[in-house]
Amino acid sequence: MEKKLSSGFSSQVSLVKCSDYDLALLKQKIYLALELIGGVNKFIQKGMKVLIKPNIMMPKKYGFPANTHPLFLKAVIQIFKESGAQITVGESSAGSQAGVTFTKKALKISGTEEVAETEGVKLVNFDFDQVCLTEIKNPHVHSIPIAKTVFEADLVVSLPKLKTHTFANIITGAIKNIYGVIPGQIKAEYHRLAPRPEQFFTIIRDLFGVVRPGLTIFDAIEGMEGDGPSAGEARQIGYIIASEDAVAADAVATELINVPSMKVLTTRLCAEAGLGKGKMEEITVLGEDLEKSVIKNFKLPTTTVYNPYLYRLILTLTKTEPFINQKKCTLCKVCLDSCPMRAIALSDKTLLINRSQCIRCFCCSETCPHQAIKPRRKNFLGNVLSKIILSRW
Ligand code: SF4
Ligand code: SF4
Repeated sequence: MEKKLSSGFSSQVSLVKCSDYDLALLKQKIYLALELIGGVNKFIQKGMKVLIKPNIMMPKKYGFPANTHPLFLKAVIQIFKESGAQITVGESSAGSQAGVTFTKKALKISGTEEVAETEGVKLVNFDFDQVCLTEIKNPHVHSIPIAKTVFEADLVVSLPKLKTHTFANIITGAIKNIYGVIPGQIKAEYHRLAPRPEQFFTIIRDLFGVVRPGLTIFDAIEGMEGDGPSAGEARQIGYIIASEDAVAADAVATELINVPSMKVLTTRLCAEAGLGKGKMEEITVLGEDLEKSVIKNFKLPTTTVYNPYLYRLILTLTKTEPFINQKKCTLCKVCLDSCPMRAIALSDKTLLINRSQCIRCFCCSETCPHQAIKPRRKNFLGNVLSKIILSRW
């Protein structure tokens, strides 16, 4: 692991009560949370390029408890703008429907797009961003495509949502939120390559070693309990958690819902790799008394039976790839320019896709003016099954 903590790095975590998504209240409480760990200006200086990475997991309505609340994002943007930051908001959501990634829809339906527009800040759909192929030392994956915007920022700020996670990790927080810097459906491919949680979360750890947020501010006002991160129930939690140590922020969030911090695989793996503090005795909690704040009856995921081989089979069956209809293609080359991986080439008047380079972002499909590229399931059985399922949906 290359990125160890610098000597000035602090594992102080602030815990501040906040009961509601009221903009004025949010700003007041986020200011307080930041004040406790050194103040806004410790992190933000005039002219600094700040990338805010919210957690917009899926296309669900405004305020859905799996996504960072749009007013929470708005409050953070306004605070940073007051300090003179140049702000960009970026995300690549999870999942897809009929081969098309959810990000565009998720940013719109969740209210994120509207917040970016009204605040006059740039919103980047990472699925359409340029890509930096970054090497990691991991037994399952050797290089990962990361949205270029991430490397252009002076500071990455993570705004995770506190919610449960059925995939054997108990919660998904600041560390897992960084997975959204990977564009497109290649994210699902890593689940297939490393189907066991103890394998998959090493990829998250090694990605986190490359993209470690300099500031984390948890939207733990309303979270999700039960079978999250998408099928759980909304739960009022009532807190904001902030830290420059994302691992420590995850640890405090976990303890807040009455789970020992090191039980969460991402926290344990990152702490063991020296990427932050995961043990509570190494973390200073400022603000509210954590012990008195613990929510004793927070519902954890019930889906604990997990079969990696079945999971791998499902991912193999449902894998989609861009398919070119050569009869419709006019060789206009629009898709060549829109492909972030430069995976499309023209050879002897035929368009070819290099499958080993393709990250399945489907930018080519979205930008083709002649609808000549369509997402198609690679597996025949998966294709038939998905058509049956979608026709009944
Ligand atoms: S954008 Fe569409 S029509 Fe143009 S070259 Fe690509 S596939 Fe062919
Ligand atoms: S070929 Fe299409 S789906 Fe694959 S990386 Fe390029 S634009 Fe994305």
